[in-house]
Amino acid sequence: MSGALESNRVAQAYLFYGPEGVGKSKMAEVLMRRLVCRAPELDEPCGACPDCRMFEAGTHPDVHRVGNPDDKSLGIDAVRRLQGVLSYTPYGRTHVTYVAPADRLTLQAANAFLKTLEEPPGRAVFILVSAYPERIPPTVLSRCVRIPFRHLSSEEIIGSLGTMGYMGPEVRTAAAFAEGNLAKAVELVSGAWSPQVRDEVISLAKRARSLGTVEVAALAQEMASRAVLEERLRMLAAWYRDLLMWLETADEVLVVNADRLSEIRSAAQGYSARELVQIITRIENALQRLEGNGNPRLIAEVLLLGLAAR
Ligand SMILES: [Zn+2]
Repeated sequence: MSGALESNRVAQAYLFYGPEGVGKSKMAEVLMRRLVCRAPELDEPCGACPDCRMFEAGTHPDVHRVGNPDDKSLGIDAVRRLQGVLSYTPYGRTHVTYVAPADRLTLQAANAFLKTLEEPPGRAVFILVSAYPERIPPTVLSRCVRIPFRHLSSEEIIGSLGTMGYMGPEVRTAAAFAEGNLAKAVELVSGAWSPQVRDEVISLAKRARSLGTVEVAALAQEMASRAVLEERLRMLAAWYRDLLMWLETADEVLVVNADRLSEIRSAAQGYSARELVQIITRIENALQRLEGNGNPRLIAEVLLLGLAAR
């Protein structure tokens, strides 16, 4: 991600969202540490430079934290303080701002924060964390690369599905895909979602880099319906996010496609974290264009060509 940061190709704001206790803050710490390190090796923080040491000690001058778990609301004062410190040139490579819980920003604070997102005074990366992203104004959301985290207790979901009469291997996968949401799991397992489609999507992702224009056109034609494309984009995003999580944490608990761990392990070797963030960003952008009433076939084509051209 360091290289991407240098070339400004990666969005400057991330939103890690999902229920409590699923590794959002852990992932944020990993990312922040990597962003401040002055001598990262192969995208990993060195652990020895002054920046790494200050980060470990919690004293790095470029790391800014807005909010804490007990805050009922994050007001305009907190944002103004942040804007104050961001106006200084960073000590190291970039300012890194952590905002959590991002959904507690008051409307006034969110509007002020939006200005900062739109026109950061210099090098700045923002990491927002929220269990309730629907409470964040859409204007702020639209500036963020959104990365979902699933609930830890998919076992509970599997149990609940079992009591409702759902059995079989697809229950496990649906539970993992439901991001901790039982209603969504029921929807998935009761037919709105099919394991075959996910298999197709994963196999597509695996050969994405070698797709030719003719195949892209054919695939885009298959995804010409809004609902079909949306489902596939979400599955694609989950796949690439799994690769990123595996590269960053090697923690299988954070992986959504839990039944495909060995494939994730080997596929992740073929990417850098920076590439994966770029891909996830492309998919998020495609989803946003789809929400904005874009033409599904065209959106699919542009995305697939982008994935193939890397
Ligand atoms: Zn370092």
